Amino acid sequence: MTASRKNYRKKMIGNHKLSPETQMMGYGYDPALSEGSLKPPVFMTSTFVFESARHGKEFFELAYGKRQAAEGEEPGLIYSRINNPDLEVLEDRLALWEDAEKGLTFSSGMAAISTCLWAYLRPGDVIVYSAPIYGGTEFLIRNILPEFGIKSVEFEAGGDKPTLAPAIEEAKKLGRVAVIYTETPANPTNGLIDLHTCRDLADKLGEDTGHRPVIMTDNTFLGPVWQSPLEHGADIVIYSLTKYVGGHSDVVAGAAIGNMDVMGPVMGFRTILGTMCDPHTGWLLMRSLETLKLRMTAAAENAKQIAVYLRDHPKVKKVHYLGFLKEDHPSYHIFRDQCGGAAGSTFAFDIDGDEAAAFRVLDALQIIKLAVSLGGTESLMEHPFAMTHADVPDDVKVRLGITESMLRISVGVENADDLIADLAQALDAA
Ligand SMILES: *Cc1c(COP(=O)(O)O)cnc(C)c1O
Repeated sequence: MTASRKNYRKKMIGNHKLSPETQMMGYGYDPALSEGSLKPPVFMTSTFVFESARHGKEFFELAYGKRQAAEGEEPGLIYSRINNPDLEVLEDRLALWEDAEKGLTFSSGMAAISTCLWAYLRPGDVIVYSAPIYGGTEFLIRNILPEFGIKSVEFEAGGDKPTLAPAIEEAKKLGRVAVIYTETPANPTNGLIDLHTCRDLADKLGEDTGHRPVIMTDNTFLGPVWQSPLEHGADIVIYSLTKYVGGHSDVVAGAAIGNMDVMGPVMGFRTILGTMCDPHTGWLLMRSLETLKLRMTAAAENAKQIAVYLRDHPKVKKVHYLGFLKEDHPSYHIFRDQCGGAAGSTFAFDIDGDEAAAFRVLDALQIIKLAVSLGGTESLMEHPFAMTHADVPDDVKVRLGITESMLRISVGVENADDLIADLAQALDAA
C-alpha cells in the first residue's frame, strides 16, 4: 500500500486532530483508485461491475445486513441507489463536521426529513415537534402523517416558559412518543431550543415507558460550522444542503447524520424509497464544502453589520438577530452554550408598517434579490407571512410573532456597504 492510500482517511497528525475545513479538500478520497486524479471524478453510473460472482454475493450479504463486516472491510459498490463513490466521499466529509459515524445524503432536505420520520414512526405513534418550523416539515406533520395514523403535539421554540415538558405529557396520553423533532434556531423567528433538555426528557420518557424517542434536529440555519446538535443531545442532525452547505443556490439536496445505531434504519429506508442524492449533485456539494467555512464566516460578518444598521433605522421596529439576545433573556444561555455565540446570517426584522409597506421595500430592492430560500452567496429577502409561511394558520403565525410587518433576509457574501446602501434606499419606500 502506498503512503497516499493509507492517508486518505487520516484524522490526526500525531496527536493533533485535523479540522473539518482542512479535511474538506481530501478526506475519504483515494486518488490512486482514480488514475491519480486530484479531485474525485463524477461517477455517473447506475451500476458497478463485480470482479467475480463471489464478490457480488459478498457485497449483497453486507448491504442487506446478512452478515457483519469483517475487520477493515469496506462495503462493495453495487448500484447507485445503494451506494456511489461521490456520495460515499461526500457523506464521510459531512460526518466529520458532526464527529459522527454515518452521514447519508438525499435528493432534498424534505427527502431527508421524510425518510428519517418514515424510519422511526409507526401507526399509533406521536411526534412532538417545535414551532415555528420549516413549511414543508409542518405540512408533512400536520397534513400527511395523520393519514398514516400518526398524531402530533407542538411546542414553542424560544418562549420564556418551558414548553417541551407539558407537550410530552400531553403526547404520552395520545400514544407511543417515537420522535422529538426540533428546528433550532427556528425559521424565521430564530427561537432557540435547549437540546440538553430534549435529551433529559427523552431519557426520562424512555425509563418511564420503555421506549425512548429519537431526537432529530434540523440544523440548516447555523450548521455545520456554528452548531453541532449531536454534541448537545440530538440523535440525528438533518440538513437542507440546498442552503448553506450547497451555498450557491444551484442544487437541491439534503442530509441526515448520526451514529451507526440510529442511522441504520434510515439507510435501509433510503435504499428502498430511493430518496438518495445523485452523483453530479454530490460532486457539486463536495466542491461547495471546500469553501463552507469561508462563506459562512463572511456572510455572518456581513449579517452583523446589517443587523446593527437595521436596529438603528427609524423604520425598523425590531431585529430578530441572535447576536442581540440580552443576557437576561431565557434563550441567552442556549445561544452561548449551544451555538457558541454564533448568530449566523439569516434573520427576520419587523418594519414600522403593514404588508403594503413591507412589499414596497421588497419591490424597491436593487441588489438583494426577492426570493425564498437562504444560505447562498447572494443576499435574498422575502415576506414570511405571505410567502414561506403562507400555509401556517394565521392565528398560529400571530402567536409565534410572524406578522405582516416581518421581512426575512439571508445575507450573502457581497460587500456589506453595498447591501446597506440597497437596504437604505429600499426602506425609504416603506
Ligand atoms: C429549505 C429548508 C428545508 C427543506 O429543504 P429542501 O432542500 O428545500 O427540501 C428544511 N428545513 C429548513 C430549515 C429549510 O430551510
